[in-house]
Amino acid sequence: FVVADFKSFTKDIEEIYWKCKGNTAGKNASYIPQLARVNPNYWGVSVCTIDGQRFSIGDTTIPFTIQSVCKPLNYAVALEHLSPIVVHQYVGQEPSGRIFNELVLDHNKQPHNPMINSGAILICSLLQTLIRSEMNLAEKFDFMQNWFSRMAGGERFGFNNSVFLSEREAADRNYALGFYMRENKVFPERTNLRECLDFYFQMCSQDVTCENMCVIAATLANGGICPMTGEKVFSTQTVRDVLSLMHSCGMYNYSGQFAFNVGLPAKSGVGGGVLLVVPNVAGFFTWSPPLDECGNSVRGIQFCEELVKLYNFHPYDNI
Ligand code: GLU
Repeated sequence: FVVADFKSFTKDIEEIYWKCKGNTAGKNASYIPQLARVNPNYWGVSVCTIDGQRFSIGDTTIPFTIQSVCKPLNYAVALEHLSPIVVHQYVGQEPSGRIFNELVLDHNKQPHNPMINSGAILICSLLQTLIRSEMNLAEKFDFMQNWFSRMAGGERFGFNNSVFLSEREAADRNYALGFYMRENKVFPERTNLRECLDFYFQMCSQDVTCENMCVIAATLANGGICPMTGEKVFSTQTVRDVLSLMHSCGMYNYSGQFAFNVGLPAKSGVGGGVLLVVPNVAGFFTWSPPLDECGNSVRGIQFCEELVKLYNFHPYDNI
């Protein structure tokens, strides 16, 4: 086993869990009512090692929307089908240094990276127009859900229609990003902006749990092989690219500080989820809705920082 003494490992996780539970700082996202009214006391942590040992504590089977945590996963699917060379003709690899939905493109007039909204919307247009362009909209949604299910070891995600409808209503900025990118000829030719944004909101509105998301984190930690099924879901190159950008761009405007303090690839979302990858060891997923000013789950960040205090998972711990 990669974690030889799994019992004492889970005891440590439990201890960190209770320590973070007492932290009631932060506020739920409030741009749509469906996120604002989620119980802020929910707190769950799940872990899956690369050899399939699992542990969960707290609210790990209650569904919530994946939100921005879908961004690295959509990016991974795009890489698998198109190769990094093609994908990165459209989107960069640089942290933007701005907030996640800022109306800004890089010096090439392209999105800075696939982890912010502009880049994620662009990836959705690649998925719709360059991959499976023969499929209708329903089939494209199924195609992505099948991909997510393979990453999660066969678990199928739900879809939160009220979040989807609200996202679409509250989408002025995402539309502005879409038009700004269209003005700058960022998209592939056949892109239909309305369909592209709907697809982006659909991806964000998938209902997930800590228990199924930690398996996705473990698939990434395990070089693309799902520890629950043994299936090779992603190539080594895809995993390397996805983890690299999660490392530099995954945690909103805290990404640089997170890379400094924790040093591990992670991605958070406004629903309060944090996906954390410990390469060659395990995947973690934490969920707690209240967010800090950067938009990261307060308890999620605390958990990651406490974890690397106890275990030398920071890549520069061992030098
Ligand atoms: N649906 C949200 C948006 O695009 C996702 C935001 C997030 O989780 O960062 O505004």
